[in-house]
Amino acid sequence: MKIQFIDLRRQYQAYKAEIDTQINDVITSSAFIMGSKVAELEQQLREFVGTKYALGCSSGTDALLLALMAYDIQPGDEIITTPFSFIATSEAIALLKAKPVFVDIDEQTFNIDPARIPHAVTGKTRGIIAVDIFGQCAEYDEINQAARTNNLFVIEDGAQSFGAQYKKHQACSLADIGCTSFFPAKPLGCYGDGGAIFTNDENIYKIARSFRVHGKGENKYDNVRVGLNARLDTIQAAVLLAKLKHYSEEIKMRGTAAACYSSQLDQDVKVPEILPHNLSVFAQYCILAENRDGLQQHLKERDIPTAIHYPKPLHLQPAFSGLGYKEGDFPVSEKICQNILALPMHPFMLEEEQHFIVESIKSFYKEEAHVLRKP
Ligand SMILES: *Cc1c(COP(=O)(O)O)cnc(C)c1O
Repeated sequence: MKIQFIDLRRQYQAYKAEIDTQINDVITSSAFIMGSKVAELEQQLREFVGTKYALGCSSGTDALLLALMAYDIQPGDEIITTPFSFIATSEAIALLKAKPVFVDIDEQTFNIDPARIPHAVTGKTRGIIAVDIFGQCAEYDEINQAARTNNLFVIEDGAQSFGAQYKKHQACSLADIGCTSFFPAKPLGCYGDGGAIFTNDENIYKIARSFRVHGKGENKYDNVRVGLNARLDTIQAAVLLAKLKHYSEEIKMRGTAAACYSSQLDQDVKVPEILPHNLSVFAQYCILAENRDGLQQHLKERDIPTAIHYPKPLHLQPAFSGLGYKEGDFPVSEKICQNILALPMHPFMLEEEQHFIVESIKSFYKEEAHVLRKP
């Protein structure tokens, strides 16, 4: 059987009866839009994360957008964020005509380097979006401290970290607002698009809830602000209700798979560094590899799928050329982009699959060393 980068079919087979029952409930009830399962899921999500409020929404991108809209972000406002993330993080900022202001990352964790944040603050700075890259939380004590000093809000982009922990606190509860994604390939994924935001602030929650459905007011036909259609689909909520029951177990299985890779590969490549106070959910298991492109090709020849997250930092993306950044502005991010490689990672990895991947990586470097030694 071919190794999958993320094996969603194997996961479905494991929970098939529960997932089918949940989906069938929705179809039988025909409550497709904001059916009761959305509120049921929101209740379970906020218990899982430990915030007062959870709001399901249509995607991780829309979660970020709702969070920024809840803070009434205006054209020209500046938001500090990382250049080493998925495009959605800075896209949500730019879509509101605000300006993403990038700050380079820490070399070990690939998360925003809090020590660099104060240098990026100007009179126009309104907030910070930190990203928990690859499933490991950013350094929120330092980030929140930098925000407090400068009177800024903090949004946690936890699209890759739902279920992770920072100093025993759950991801998505670590800032003023936490945002996550339930895109199928995320650690907790649904069967289409979905997302959620988390907060302890009742006012922010109510504003985001209003924006989620066309800026609805207290009365059904009042529209008190210009909003979005950003609801979480009821069938997606149903899938998540079935999967959430197994999620804590899956996080352990992810940890086991990651430990298996790390213990066998640490002589050959740079394996992920997880800080002692962090529990990662390994949305991606990323190594730093010499001759990354050669290694990727070698693995491809053996039918082993890999991915590059991310080949280009956000400040060098054409979409952001108007911001005026150039090569060399964020050297750590730029360097990581050249060596990073994501290996297959999901809770249902088999030992023999991991063994084959590890042996294939080792054989690549053995051959490389052999070639280099030849005169
Ligand atoms: C996936 C992702 C998003 C966007 O989530 P969608 O549900 O695909 O819109 C945002 N930020 C990060 C860091 C992501 O990985």
